[in-house]
Amino acid sequence: MDKITIIVPCYNEQEVVEMFYPTVQAEVEKIPDTEFNYVFVNDGSRDSTLEKLRKISEKYSNVTYLSLSRNFGKENAMMAGIDYADGDAVIIMDADLQHPPTKIAEMVEWWRKGYDDVCGKRVDRAGETWLKRSCANLFYAIMKKFSTSYEMQRDVGDFRLLDRRCIEALRLMRENQRFTKGLFTWVGYNKKEIPFEVQPRAAGTTTWNYFALFNLAMKGMTSFTTAPLRLMTFLGISVSFGATLYMIFTFLMALIYGDPVAGYPTLMTVILFLGGTQLLALGIIGEYLAQIFHETKRRPIYLVGEVNGKRMIYSSENVPTERNFTKHRQNVDADV
Ligand code: UDP
Ligand code: MG
Repeated sequence: MDKITIIVPCYNEQEVVEMFYPTVQAEVEKIPDTEFNYVFVNDGSRDSTLEKLRKISEKYSNVTYLSLSRNFGKENAMMAGIDYADGDAVIIMDADLQHPPTKIAEMVEWWRKGYDDVCGKRVDRAGETWLKRSCANLFYAIMKKFSTSYEMQRDVGDFRLLDRRCIEALRLMRENQRFTKGLFTWVGYNKKEIPFEVQPRAAGTTTWNYFALFNLAMKGMTSFTTAPLRLMTFLGISVSFGATLYMIFTFLMALIYGDPVAGYPTLMTVILFLGGTQLLALGIIGEYLAQIFHETKRRPIYLVGEVNGKRMIYSSENVPTERNFTKHRQNVDADV
């Protein structure tokens, strides 16, 4: 009997969490020789998600929920789930049922065939707006060009099954600025991509917007490649080279043809161009500096405040080990 833990990060998902369990459970019950349990991570929801999770966990014995002390973001919420999970493998799914539960059986099959990381690959990017697709293309192109040690998987998100090996590896990476998509790739092991179509949200609204996507892309770049810094060096070299050529050119023009050099337009162009490049270079250095700033503080990735109706305080730095989780639970009997 294999044990698989389904991890579900939830942020303001009151409309869907109750629907999630029966829908997924109906599918996984069909899978032979496998026991499933669930870890819902309440990522500081401001609606009644937590109350709903309390009810679900009381009703079904294979459901656990963790409640974070505030909203830490999906990446960190997933890590809380991964740290807690005790299965031989985990499956990460969105709470809004956009990841089709019908694919779980296929994932498990590939896992049994020896794959460590069975990831869902989106095949429906065509339905997205032109702008979103172009941004995605640009991001993947940059990452492909600049991250040398491995290749970022295209159109592959967080919907995946991970073997214990991958989980243990992910647990080693305690960085604060988490770009999970890159971390999954970094870990390596045997990967299998299976196609799936993202379903429309069962209910509720998405929390993503262009600004959030841009931030995620920046995080991805700054945590997985330092190529932009190198690029700035090249840019600096080429601008200086160009400036030298231009200087020689104007000098010769004046010397040979007595050409009166148009001062204002040329100066304006050069000043603006140089100013722009310098700001860009500073901005890029700033992005990396910000990363260093966040990482050096070594703050925990998340704080857990409640587990299955019990007050519990632990952080990513002192996750109780599986064995003393149960003990921990018995010791703390103050009901929330
Ligand atoms: N989520 C989260 N913390 C956040 C934002 C989102 O745990 O700060 C969860 C959310 O509840 C959902 C998943 O991440 O289960 C994906 O979020 P959403 O559906 O809003 O994004 P989309 O599917 O539109 O990319
Ligand atoms: Mg969604």
